[in-house]
Amino acid sequence: MKEVKCSVCGNETKCEQCGAESEKAEHLCLECYQKQGGKVKEGMHVCIPKEKVEEAYDKFLANMIQGASEEMWNAEKKKLKELSKQELSKTSFFEGARFMLAFMRRVSQESEKEK
Ligand SMILES: [Zn+2]
Ligand SMILES: [Zn+2]
Repeated sequence: MKEVKCSVCGNETKCEQCGAESEKAEHLCLECYQKQGGKVKEGMHVCIPKEKVEEAYDKFLANMIQGASEEMWNAEKKKLKELSKQELSKTSFFEGARFMLAFMRRVSQESEKEK
C-alpha cells in the first residue's frame, strides 16, 4: 500500500488503488470526504485505508447497538447484519464506507436530539 497526498488538505493517506495506479489522479482523504458531506468531485478518488474502514465499521456497529431502540433504523440494521466485514472489503468497499458514514452521521444527529 502506498501513501498518497490528499488534494484538499495535503495529508497523507494510504490507498491501495491509487498507489498501484498513476499519481496524477486527485485524492481525497477520509476526513475531507466527511467534511464535504460525502460529495466527491469527478475524477477524485476517496482514499480510505482498509484499517480505517474496519475501525469505522466497528464504531458504527457499537453506535448502532447503543441506539438500537429506534424503530426507524430497523431497515438499516437488517441490511447491516447481512453485510459482513469480508463482503465490505471485497465487493462494496467504497459503497459500504459511504453507507456507513451516512448512517453514522444520522446516528450522531439522532443522539444529539435526544439530549
Ligand atoms: Zn484531506
Ligand atoms: Zn485512492
